Amino acid sequence: MSTDVPRRYAIRTFGCQMNEHDSARIAGLLEAEGMVAAAADEADVVVLNTCCIRENADNKLYGNLGHLKRRKAENPDLRIVVAGCLAQKDRERIQQRAPHVDVVLGTHNVGRAVELLRRAETDGPVMEILEAAAADDHADFPTALARRELPFSAWVTIQIGCDNSCAFCIVPSVRGPEVSRPFDELVAEVGRLAAGGVSEVTLLGQNVNSYGRDLTLARRRGGEAARVRPLFADLLRAVGAVEGVRRVRYTSPHPKDLRPDTIAAMADTPSVCEHLHLPLQAGSDRVLAAMHRGYTAERYLERLAAARAAIPDLAVTTDLIVGFPGETDADFERTLEVVAEAGYDSAYTFIFSPRPGTEAAARSGDFVPPEVCAERFERLKVVVERSALARHRDRIGRVEEVLVEGPSKKGAGVVTGRTRQNKLVHFAPGDAAVPAGSYAGVRIVDAAPHFLRGELVEVTDRPRHRTRIPVTAA
Ligand code: SF4
Repeated sequence: MSTDVPRRYAIRTFGCQMNEHDSARIAGLLEAEGMVAAAADEADVVVLNTCCIRENADNKLYGNLGHLKRRKAENPDLRIVVAGCLAQKDRERIQQRAPHVDVVLGTHNVGRAVELLRRAETDGPVMEILEAAAADDHADFPTALARRELPFSAWVTIQIGCDNSCAFCIVPSVRGPEVSRPFDELVAEVGRLAAGGVSEVTLLGQNVNSYGRDLTLARRRGGEAARVRPLFADLLRAVGAVEGVRRVRYTSPHPKDLRPDTIAAMADTPSVCEHLHLPLQAGSDRVLAAMHRGYTAERYLERLAAARAAIPDLAVTTDLIVGFPGETDADFERTLEVVAEAGYDSAYTFIFSPRPGTEAAARSGDFVPPEVCAERFERLKVVVERSALARHRDRIGRVEEVLVEGPSKKGAGVVTGRTRQNKLVHFAPGDAAVPAGSYAGVRIVDAAPHFLRGELVEVTDRPRHRTRIPVTAA
């Protein structure tokens, strides 16, 4: 990049983990160009990584762009980038409503952020939106380049897009069809991350269980060359076997695609954590069918029971939507029953809000009144918190392995970390040194619905990560 290119950047991220991860990739690229992170008001390059899944996405984006317009009037060298799902969806509309935006890029070309910024320097405002991801979308940009919040823990995107058509979800239209990253490339990438000191990896995709449907691998079988389709279970085993990787997590699987071989791979790969995030969304079969989820409550509970039978001490979390269009009192009661039966460790609960462009948003005549949704939401929260608290209380007295993340918000001298079941634990280490990235044995002494409290028993492993993130792709 030329010498007059701005040197400080700020990224504002709206939305889900996939967006957080894309922001980390953009940050890694900008830092590879010599830029440093700064507060938004001091930055020379401001990236807004948008999401159209959350409510009021447009208002938030255009509110931010209004503020940046005033800043750009004072400093014409300010560069503004809009990325993410809303950029993919709204395209020219962003340039029309906010001509002061320098770069608009979609969800399939995050890796081109720096190049497009360069182009904007010479050619003026630029927009580049691709309709679908190429299989090698990530090939030029290993995750090792991504700037990570926790240097000992990394997200690895294994797949982008989604082939499902859930009635409430905008993802398939903004992220496109599923594309899996090549198997060997992923394993090699995890190897590089582990060599750099990463000990925990989270495999990321919209529907990780269908990973590999679009791939074939060249392998030898009985001395013969063969082409085989890799399964998500194969990937779990391969990543779990990488030296230095102590914890493997993944999100999110789709209940209809949770296969026995995935459960078996979780059960027999020691580094794969005992945590399953299995989005239920609703407990009524009528609502599940209207959502096009592809399973019944009974089928869901059967798969959950199979996972619990195979994986001792499995923590299970979920996503739930209250007030999907047409949801009756009886439908909602069924959700309460299924949630109670599932006995979750925690749940992300949402009140339905229509996303323009989705099938559910078109059913405005069936929308559930807000006061009914609010009341149902509170009742659901009570059922979820009851099971979470019961499951957390069961852990009192145990010594859990905690990966330390850093200082806790619970007070001075308290640190926080996560167990293999992904439970937040706060504990006071006293005089012991437990830097972020350490593994510690912590005895659980108290429980709340959303966290545990503990006492340090011993530090079992020190962090291995480097403090600087490598910027050279292997
Ligand atoms: S599985 Fe359904 S909810 Fe998940 S990303 Fe695909 S369409 Fe959206």
